[in-house]
Amino acid sequence: MEQQYQEEKQIARQRPTTPLVQMEQSEKKRIPRILLVDDDSAALSALSRTFRLRMRDIEVDTSVSAIEALSLLKVKEYDAVISDIKMPGMDGMQLLAKLHENMPEIPVLLITGHGEHELAMQALQEGAYDYTLKPIDRDFFVASVRRALQTRQLLRLVQEKQQALEQYAHSLESQVEQRTRELISVNEAKDRMLSMVAHELATPLTSLKGLLQLAHRRLNNGAIDKAIRDIETMEISANHLGVLIQDLRDAIHIQTSQFVLQRSPYDLVKLCQNVLDEFIVDGISTPCESPQYEPLEVNIDSNRIRQALLNLLTNARKYSPKGTPITVTLQRHATEVSLSVSDRGSGISVEHLAHIYEQFYRVPHSNVQEGEFTGLGLGLYITRAIVEQHGGHMEVQSRPGEGSTFSIILPIFTDDTKAAHESTAEAAPLRITWVVRVMI
Ligand code: ADP
Repeated sequence: MEQQYQEEKQIARQRPTTPLVQMEQSEKKRIPRILLVDDDSAALSALSRTFRLRMRDIEVDTSVSAIEALSLLKVKEYDAVISDIKMPGMDGMQLLAKLHENMPEIPVLLITGHGEHELAMQALQEGAYDYTLKPIDRDFFVASVRRALQTRQLLRLVQEKQQALEQYAHSLESQVEQRTRELISVNEAKDRMLSMVAHELATPLTSLKGLLQLAHRRLNNGAIDKAIRDIETMEISANHLGVLIQDLRDAIHIQTSQFVLQRSPYDLVKLCQNVLDEFIVDGISTPCESPQYEPLEVNIDSNRIRQALLNLLTNARKYSPKGTPITVTLQRHATEVSLSVSDRGSGISVEHLAHIYEQFYRVPHSNVQEGEFTGLGLGLYITRAIVEQHGGHMEVQSRPGEGSTFSIILPIFTDDTKAAHESTAEAAPLRITWVVRVMI
């Protein structure tokens, strides 16, 4: 016995690493585990020792009955079951049938008595992986078990890959569903936006057409004064149409990164003054006093900053009751300037504030003052893009029913001008305020 034990130990030392074990190592999988079933406990322990010695990296469990084996199979995962056919109670064939029914992935190898060829053939027909006859030819049987384990492992790998692929397919499916939902909602938003744009463009156009017909009739009837007033009103509608189309163009330019600034040093105090003059000239606001000031030069695209300020002023006027003040404040701080427009209008709730810079966003049910035109919800989107292109940012404070303050914050020094100013003393803070009032 001892001699056989030593011989088998020697065989175990010499045996090269099998592809099965290589696969185990490379995949960092658990060690294969086999279950030996035999009611003859001496034969069981001899067989167990044979496998332990001849197959490295293998776990061997034993069971003295098929019933006990089934209980073990419920709690542990096995890669092969090797069972004697002849056993009291449930025999090897019944165990095979149970396993074939419930765990068909586990290969079953049967050991049968000498001359029981027919039984062995029946076992193969009923799904056994292989069989061996007693007395067991160890080399032959170990090789067969090794093949069974390799087959089992390959099957497991295929199953794992299949599972991974299924999971991947599932995640792709949900991604596609998610993207489809997003595209549908983007498409719906685009449809809503297009119908809103069409509606807003149609309003001044309809008014233009009506006024044109009226002016035409009045001219035919000799009512020249009235026709001139119609033509003046037509001009307002035409201007409005022009503003809407310009907003759409600007939005497209921003999206396609074609929004380019033409920067040069420009006095922001003069810019505010000019914008307010323009704002007031249209006859809706009262004039303001020109404050005493020193120039505040910043490297900006004056046309674009003018457009941004005008957008804020127009909004303040559109969403504030007539007669309420609109305050414009220009301040110089250490490294930045702020240009704020405050109104005492409708204000915006926190819920909507989060969206006001989005394209085509208009706060639901916010009505513009009489005589004002509704916009496309692009003004703040464009304003923010202008300010951000200058390296600045927008700030807003607003309370429903109390009013809003929108601020344009711009850096005083750009990368080009920073070096030149680094040596000079810091400029003194400056604050200039203009107040305009929206009249009835
Ligand atoms: P619009 O051209 O529709 O005014 P904006 O982008 O300029 O678009 O403004 C987006 C929305 O933000 C407006 O529809 C309005 O509901 C709200 N809003 C903007 N400015 C003010 C303001 N000063 N007071 C109250 N609501 C404002």
